[in-house]
Amino acid sequence: MEIGRRTVLQIGALAGLGLMVKAMGLSPVLATTKEEPGEIVKVVKTDEEWKTILTPEQYYVLRREGTEFPFQNVYNHNETPGTYYCAGCDLALFSSEVKYDSKTGWPSFWQPISPKVVGTKTDWRLFYPRTEVHCARCGGHLGHIFNDGPPPTGLRYCINSVALKFRVA
Ligand code: FE
Repeated sequence: MEIGRRTVLQIGALAGLGLMVKAMGLSPVLATTKEEPGEIVKVVKTDEEWKTILTPEQYYVLRREGTEFPFQNVYNHNETPGTYYCAGCDLALFSSEVKYDSKTGWPSFWQPISPKVVGTKTDWRLFYPRTEVHCARCGGHLGHIFNDGPPPTGLRYCINSVALKFRVA
């Protein structure tokens, strides 16, 4: 009898939590996604959903492959130790340990936290091909990869600040 009552209370609490998540406008995908360590479960949202979640600047860069202005962005000169997460889905992308000053005006890193957290494709928007880099979980555009980076990789992940969220962790 006691167990039955407790179960009913637990079900009620879970239902209440679900309603709360919905009422707070939290992403149902992020709220329910379960990822094993090292696993990437893709986040898929409609354009309209992204517009409600992201700021116009984030939407322009992440979902429209836009580019923010160089030098006038928040993380270009950030030297605080920590981690840079995707502004679209909060996936950890870059450590401050691999950030360096490329003098290009955008935050630059020589490798992601794991090869699994990013994807690439060839970008032909300019008159020459570039390697576009995006978040492996939500597909959000982050920036481009160039071959003029420092050792040991020789790569420069040139990333838009607005596509990132920095946290000291
Ligand atoms: Fe993402």
